[in-house]
Amino acid sequence: GVREEGAPTKRSIHVCVRKRPIFPHEINAGEYDVITCRKAGVFVHDARIHSDMRHLFINHHSFDFDAVFDESAENSQVYQGAAAEAIANTVHKSITTTILMYGQTGSGKTYTMTSIYEMAGRDLFDHMESSGKKFDVSVSFVELEGDICRDMLNRGAQTQLLTGKDGAVHPYPLTEVDVKSADELVSYIRFACSLRATEATGVHDKSSRSHACVRIFIRKVDEEVEGVLQLVDLAGSEHRIDSSEHDAARRKECAQINSSLSALKECIRAHAKGSSFIPFRKSKLTHLLKTCFMDGNATIIIATVSPSSKDTEHSLNTIRHACIMD
Ligand code: ADP
Ligand code: MG
Repeated sequence: GVREEGAPTKRSIHVCVRKRPIFPHEINAGEYDVITCRKAGVFVHDARIHSDMRHLFINHHSFDFDAVFDESAENSQVYQGAAAEAIANTVHKSITTTILMYGQTGSGKTYTMTSIYEMAGRDLFDHMESSGKKFDVSVSFVELEGDICRDMLNRGAQTQLLTGKDGAVHPYPLTEVDVKSADELVSYIRFACSLRATEATGVHDKSSRSHACVRIFIRKVDEEVEGVLQLVDLAGSEHRIDSSEHDAARRKECAQINSSLSALKECIRAHAKGSSFIPFRKSKLTHLLKTCFMDGNATIIIATVSPSSKDTEHSLNTIRHACIMD
């Protein structure tokens, strides 16, 4: 998008890219690194052999972002560069901050988000303490898989999505746990994540097909205002409607993931452009994340990519979609 230097941006959307390292097993399999990172740009080198089988063509696609983290970037650098400021504002200005991990399965969404849980947890409590004010903090954790919503702080029990008077959708009933320290907060999140991980096997595992949404509520007791931090580890972006897929249930699942991610993209675009109409009714996911499309709130998208040549198409897709949201 077009950004005016120094102009107050009511609609704060930041899009970053993180490239993970190429793994030894990928190199051993003859794969190579197709992604080059510059300060705030990404190049994807897409090599194709001409149908005459004699000529090699390389397309260099270039994209600009607010920030780019290459394979040498540590979790703490990603956190400082992408999230830290918005997290401070969540406490001090009582805004809603949403951090979305977007990318192909295996590209590093959960790896990055896991570190954000820990660092954000610590920072939130540090900011509260230094402000000298009194806060109440609580946390909830839901997993959305197709139309099914689970309460991960209630051992993954299925819960309903109910539409309230304000048109927003709320999981009900939903466990919201009060926490008194960063350690306590992080241990609840870790426990919920371990429940998700136990069902994980391979690319089509549950965590690749579901969206995980952690919400941390930070209430200023004396002012009756609330900051909310939403940390969302999205389903893998590689799910496409695949005509070769014969399993009807699996096809439906792919279509559902696809449409929830497109709906999210549309809402973010509409919000970024300053549109007063946000099409959040198009999916359960956007219903659930409705508050992130409201003025004054901050949204951070971290798009994760695999550098491996076998993933070129998925990486290009992730980067193109992320670019549209910027
Ligand atoms: P996703 O959640 O997108 O499916 P994961 O976060 O599970 O992907 O990452 C896949 C694998 O790659 C994991 O073994 C993870 O530890 C590793 N990995 C991801 N990003 C990095 C990184 N930046 N540095 C080192 N290892 C990484
Ligand atoms: Mg994951």
